[in-house]
Amino acid sequence: MTERRCAGCWQTKDRKDLIKITNSAQGVIVNPNSFTFGRSAYLCYNNSCIESAFKKNKLAKFLKTAIPEELKGQVLNELRNKENK
Ligand SMILES: [Zn+2]
Repeated sequence: MTERRCAGCWQTKDRKDLIKITNSAQGVIVNPNSFTFGRSAYLCYNNSCIESAFKKNKLAKFLKTAIPEELKGQVLNELRNKENK
């Protein structure tokens, strides 16, 4: 089991229970299949962790880069996809 820490609540969870966000050569992206390598942050599949990570630029500090405006929408889409599965 690969454990990762959520950037919102700091709990460790299994990798498959977290949304992966990677600071890649193409910019900051949601990286569900780990196709792209780079410094990564993880978030639980829940609104409060997402809100908390985007608040106060937590995610930006974690990834050491600016977070694009559209990223939050992409993360929320990922959350919705998971819920619809
Ligand atoms: Zn969390």
